[in-house]
Amino acid sequence: QVAVVGSYNQDHVWVADRLPAPGETRLGRYHTGPGGKGFNQAVAAARLGAQTLFIGALGEDPAGEHAMDLAREYHLAMRVQRPPGEATGSAAVIVDGQGRNQIVVAPGANAVLSERFVRGQAEQLRAAHVVLTQLEVNTAAVETALALARSAGRITILNPAPVDAGVSAIALSDTDILTPNETEFAAVLAAQRGGPVAGEGVATLGDDELHALCRRLGVPTVVVTLGARGCFVSHADGQLRGDEATHYRIAGEAVEAIDTTGAGDAFNGALAAALALHPGRPFADAVRLANRYAALSTERPGAALAMPTRAEFQARYGG
Ligand code: ADP
Repeated sequence: QVAVVGSYNQDHVWVADRLPAPGETRLGRYHTGPGGKGFNQAVAAARLGAQTLFIGALGEDPAGEHAMDLAREYHLAMRVQRPPGEATGSAAVIVDGQGRNQIVVAPGANAVLSERFVRGQAEQLRAAHVVLTQLEVNTAAVETALALARSAGRITILNPAPVDAGVSAIALSDTDILTPNETEFAAVLAAQRGGPVAGEGVATLGDDELHALCRRLGVPTVVVTLGARGCFVSHADGQLRGDEATHYRIAGEAVEAIDTTGAGDAFNGALAAALALHPGRPFADAVRLANRYAALSTERPGAALAMPTRAEFQARYGG
């Protein structure tokens, strides 16, 4: 089983020929759909066949009810706090013809997911094989979830996204696997070392240098996702999770990417699912699956709705 502790947002998306300037009005098309890093990752894990529990917070409003209906459709178990007076999280997304966007998020209920509520789910968190979380809900709730799962010997994954205040506030001591993208990696490094990281360009670093930087974080395993270039894995000595090397790269899959929104979410959900479904296999197998699953997700528009099913994944990559 996979337990995801994280956010749900209702995404409102307007597509226009170009982004409006301040004071300007443009005409465009509108659609709405489920989003939020936590929910997207949970949907990915569930679609790959892992029994998945979503723990989060929703408002007592129509958007919250809609989320509960969607969860049933996606076969997600839900443990949801409904804080009175808070709205369900929402995001206003404006996209132009080239796929560039402008986003405003109103976190609403996500921001007040409480430590107490998470502690109330201790039994579920301790029973899950893998607990996966991000930084789009209250940081104290995230740390509580990681600590509860770690104390029961479960695998904990922290996706340190989005990059904002949470990145410098979070304690990494209960994280087994950290999964930043390049920007998040630079931000986490800066936060841990108390200063900006020289030359943010992770892209230009050699494998040994990248591994040395990963090791500064004190987390047993770090997986840096590199967009179209795939990802980089770094393990602490003696904690190889069935792998043969302490560090290695996995190349990106060639795909016709049309929308990379949620690629990181697809990667994290798939990694958690693979680790939960095949606990005895080398870590590299799970990362390879996540890398392929995330690549496939970029061939479709949308976030949660873009997550491929297990059958769609197998049709492309077999296994
Ligand atoms: P985020 O979406 O969080 O910014 P990345 O851009 O690093 O994260 O993408 C996450 C993963 O998605 C990558 O490690 C890779 O597996 C996959 N991916 C993203 N963009 C592409 C692409 N254009 N082609 C192939 N795979 C991609």
